[in-house]
Amino acid sequence: MAQQEDVFKKIVSHCKEYGFVFPSSDIYDGLGAVYDYGQNGVELKNNIKQYWWQSMVLLHENIVGIDAAIFMHPTTWKASGHVDAFNDPLIDNRDSKKRYRADVLIEEQLAKYEDKIQKEIEKAKKKFGDAFDEAQFRATNPRVLENQEKFDALHKRYQEVMNAEGGIDLEGMKQIILDEGIVCPISGTRNWTDVRQFNLMFKTEMGSTADGASTIYLRPETAQGIFVNYLNVQKTGRMKLPFGIAQIGKAFRNEIVARQFIFRMREFEQMEMQFFIKPGTELDWFAKWKETRMKWHQNLGFGAENYRFHDHDKLAHYANAATDIEFHMPFGFKEVEGIHSRTNFDLSQHAKYSGKKIEYFDPDTNESYTPYVIETSIGVDRMFLSIMCHSYEEQQLPDGQTRTVLHLPAALAPVKLAVFPLTKKDGMPEKAQEIINDLRFHFNCKYEEKDQIGKRYRRMDAIGCPFCVTVDQQTLEDNTVTLRDRDTMEQRRVAISDLRGIIEDKVSITSLLKNLL
Ligand code: ATP
Repeated sequence: MAQQEDVFKKIVSHCKEYGFVFPSSDIYDGLGAVYDYGQNGVELKNNIKQYWWQSMVLLHENIVGIDAAIFMHPTTWKASGHVDAFNDPLIDNRDSKKRYRADVLIEEQLAKYEDKIQKEIEKAKKKFGDAFDEAQFRATNPRVLENQEKFDALHKRYQEVMNAEGGIDLEGMKQIILDEGIVCPISGTRNWTDVRQFNLMFKTEMGSTADGASTIYLRPETAQGIFVNYLNVQKTGRMKLPFGIAQIGKAFRNEIVARQFIFRMREFEQMEMQFFIKPGTELDWFAKWKETRMKWHQNLGFGAENYRFHDHDKLAHYANAATDIEFHMPFGFKEVEGIHSRTNFDLSQHAKYSGKKIEYFDPDTNESYTPYVIETSIGVDRMFLSIMCHSYEEQQLPDGQTRTVLHLPAALAPVKLAVFPLTKKDGMPEKAQEIINDLRFHFNCKYEEKDQIGKRYRRMDAIGCPFCVTVDQQTLEDNTVTLRDRDTMEQRRVAISDLRGIIEDKVSITSLLKNLL
């Protein structure tokens, strides 16, 4: 595990060193869980978005895109439940100035009692061997009984405060933390503030305060921009069910525990598609979208063993089926995408709060109903991170040297072709530039003339450039160049006129999309 953590640290610094991801406002020492994408990062990110967008909008006749504003009418968030239901109880330690989720502190205390019991059991198991009777031991051992009693009492109090009438009993929560003697893991003190409700949404004001500004929120998910446009798109696009609306855009969450680089950010980007369907067909569509989305991921060639579904046991109040697609990151299998069967919850809520009729008239059955929705929701940044983690390799070469290489899928690589003149003389730079001028309309090319060829190759390996071409003396005579492959490092002589044919297909998003059909 320690080794895996090391690898992760290296990936983070690689991202910075090679212009993929910088801490936000770096010259001011960064801003917590906010990041900027650099010159190579933005290209990779755009390619990921293009791969997703085209797989949705280009490959499905019944899916169209929109681009809704980040600011939305404040009632949107009342209707969606984000204003009231998505509140976490928080408590601060005055000495360490650290903030914690109060419910998590109590759950950790419960886990401590369970651990103590488990330890006693393990000890006794070793001592008594085969003769050990766990049930009897649990019922009679004084230390187990004492801890079980503490666990039960705490559990009962915890349930009471969480399910109090009118919402969580915040004072009761603080009292539990004090009574249990829970200390801050950093300062070790019990100097706690009161427990307060905390909403993950960022608030701001629209208009000047003098003329009655209204509180609005930065959207915590892009989905609601799709729901409130359902009628607009359905009517103007004359869409028939089933149909989908796709959107890529920024979302903002004031995450409390921001960590693991771009895995959990406060400003991030989502790619969401809401698929509107006839009620009763949702489980079939849910299964279909699970399959479609998994295929999209696995199409990148990272190996099926690195993905898994994690079906939810505990469903959000609006969902009747939900799963995550998890990817094997250096810190374990982690959610990259969520697929949710959201019933007609969102459209019904918006109908209720807006007073508008949000329904679909089904010409086949002559009935009107509120469509059900299957949602696929993926984070661009998490996708970016999973690609980086899988592509990064410190490779031992046969000659004893090492190279750092990003085995990015060629279609996603920021730069597709680097062109080097062997020397800066004899018209080689001009010839190299000529090749670029010809190919730059078809894919992203880069010119490099500094340092020895070997060093230039290494720089291109480090940003995942799949092809490098070197212009040498022979080029000037016969219009051939050496073409070097990033992964195999093999070099072969090819005619300049063949370059486009060899490279274009391999580096285009189209080649990825064709495998999806
Ligand atoms: P988590 O459980 O990790 O907080 P979530 O279940 O709240 O995620 P969703 O609301 O389902 O996430 O959002 C869909 C996708 O958006 C996630 O699968 C993830 O890829 C991305 N995402 C959510 N929160 C963040 C964040 N803070 N930073 C980066 N990406 C995020």
